[in-house]
Amino acid sequence: MIRVRFAPSPTGPIHLGGIRTALYNYLLAKKYNGKFILRIEDTDQDRYLSHAESYILKSLKWCGIEPDEGFGYGGPYAPYQQSKRGHIYRLYLDFLLKKKYAYYAFDTDKDIKIKRKECEKLGVNFTYDHKIRMSLNNSLTMTKEKLTKKLKSKIPYVIRFKVTPGLSLKVHDMIRGCIEFNTNYLDDKILLKSNGTATYHLANTVDDHIMKITHVLRGEEWISSMFLHILIYQSFGWSPPNFAHLPLILNRNGKGKISKRNISSLDSPLFPIQWIESNTNIKINGYKELGYFPDAFINMLALLGWNPGNNREIFSLKELINFFSIKKINKSGVFFDKKKAIWFNKQYIIKNKNKIFLFLEKKLKNRSISYSNDFLWKVINLTIDRVNFVHEIWNHTYYFFIEPNYYEKDFLYEIKDKNSIVENIKILLDKLNIDPFSFSQLKCIFQGLKEKKFSMQLIRLAIVGKLKGINLLKILEMLGKRHSIKRIKKFIKSI
Ligand code: GLU
Repeated sequence: MIRVRFAPSPTGPIHLGGIRTALYNYLLAKKYNGKFILRIEDTDQDRYLSHAESYILKSLKWCGIEPDEGFGYGGPYAPYQQSKRGHIYRLYLDFLLKKKYAYYAFDTDKDIKIKRKECEKLGVNFTYDHKIRMSLNNSLTMTKEKLTKKLKSKIPYVIRFKVTPGLSLKVHDMIRGCIEFNTNYLDDKILLKSNGTATYHLANTVDDHIMKITHVLRGEEWISSMFLHILIYQSFGWSPPNFAHLPLILNRNGKGKISKRNISSLDSPLFPIQWIESNTNIKINGYKELGYFPDAFINMLALLGWNPGNNREIFSLKELINFFSIKKINKSGVFFDKKKAIWFNKQYIIKNKNKIFLFLEKKLKNRSISYSNDFLWKVINLTIDRVNFVHEIWNHTYYFFIEPNYYEKDFLYEIKDKNSIVENIKILLDKLNIDPFSFSQLKCIFQGLKEKKFSMQLIRLAIVGKLKGINLLKILEMLGKRHSIKRIKKFIKSI
């Protein structure tokens, strides 16, 4: 059975890239009736933010991609927060120490500094690796007795992974194919920190094994960790999961990948839902607050790095599950495009007509404006192609319900001979006394006018208050004769 995990670190809000990782994991799990697991990788307690965990849960819920198992959901491998699994990592670490795949290192900051200086003098970079480990203060360079004494005296230490040098290994990445690497270039990463807690590398590999994770889908930035992880799996004698490193999401306006750091150059939100900065209380709106439909957001994200192999772009979550395949994930980075994100939302507007109806209904009720459902639906159908977000509908429809109280000034200022204008409108008013007050009849009337464009602008101003709105004749027909004439008379008075 396919078991995948989304393993965020609760150090801040998850952004587009994180949600996309969660989404691809979710799609793969659902496609093959597997399990989608949420694991909280909170090994870095210095950067831990408690409200980041609830943010992750809320975000996944809003997106409609909830885990089957994991933090907040429970399951056979609980607890799913790494900070609560220290005792487990310790057991596995003991195994690595016993098998000599790991060693104690007692080097102080000062020791390291000295060594770094020495390296500088020789013109080489300092990395704690196979070349240098034998000249440092660790269990590889001391007697058993000295080690026992040091451990007893509670001198702080870290535990490092002992990379076997000189191995040329091949790893298969499901997106990038075969990647070769040489272990000579790996350093002896810390597995246990001096405060006694496991690092990401140890906790991540042990948990993926214990939790029976079959596929690891994660961001490209973790690709270099994969080499070390493969060695850790080998030392335990475990077979590693299948890896797929997802392409970066790039920012067209700024430089490089999207991140919280370049949020100001990204002209649209980075987060799925609102995030409140804990120290400043600053609220940063997400896609939800800006009016995106979750299914439009998910559809947009799915195509940010994956394609179905044809030009189709609109997919429900069910369809995404159906069509998703790791083979169709891009290798290279993908650009995030705000216009495209808006376009996706617009495609979902038609499917969400009832939400528009409810939104308008509320607006009208708050203003104590009466209407018939039939009229409201007609208004929606006439204006829907002008909106990208539900809340925009009011701006495109208010004039069907509210008479203008003032008129856009610029246009009126330019009119020199106001009297003759009034006379002309009055003549037009007489002509408008027709039955039925229908689109086709109105069309005949306006077509017969000498200054058609100008007259239509004036009437639009009278009806809408501004030179905007849908086809004027359609508005007049919708308002009906009585209301239209009333508005025009009011306009005459005002000039
Ligand atoms: N905890 C890592 C993160 O914050 C996850 C890396 C992984 O999926 O292995 O993104």
